[in-house]
Amino acid sequence: MEPTIFDLILRKEIPADIVYEDEHVLGFKDVNPQAPVHVLFIPKVRIATHNDLDESNMDYIKHIHAAINHYAKEIGEADNGYRIVMNCNENGQQSVFHIHMHFLAGRQLEWPPG
Ligand code: AMP
Repeated sequence: MEPTIFDLILRKEIPADIVYEDEHVLGFKDVNPQAPVHVLFIPKVRIATHNDLDESNMDYIKHIHAAINHYAKEIGEADNGYRIVMNCNENGQQSVFHIHMHFLAGRQLEWPPG
């Protein structure tokens, strides 16, 4: 598999505004933010899409949710609320094929999304 831009960020070969890191997860600011806080949380292994999650790698979802809870509290947005989004394949408008959760916070978000 060709490396994605997120592999390059993981290897620190290209810069990113990293706001969270632990053994399993990296969190960095989205370059095209859709809210005052827009952070992408990614697993430190390549899982291309949500469809590729299985028993062998599903724990990364748990780790990402734990990371998001930690970060939301740390920046004082846990009680205000936020949105977590995962896009999958063409209809979901996924553009980077290394799964990621978008963490959006800092303003009243619209619902339903477009
Ligand atoms: P998705 O459309 O769900 O695949 O989301 C990919 C996200 O990655 C988009 O919101 C992009 O703005 C973001 N993105 C792409 N390249 C970078 C980068 N080098 N650093 C940070 N965010 C990026």
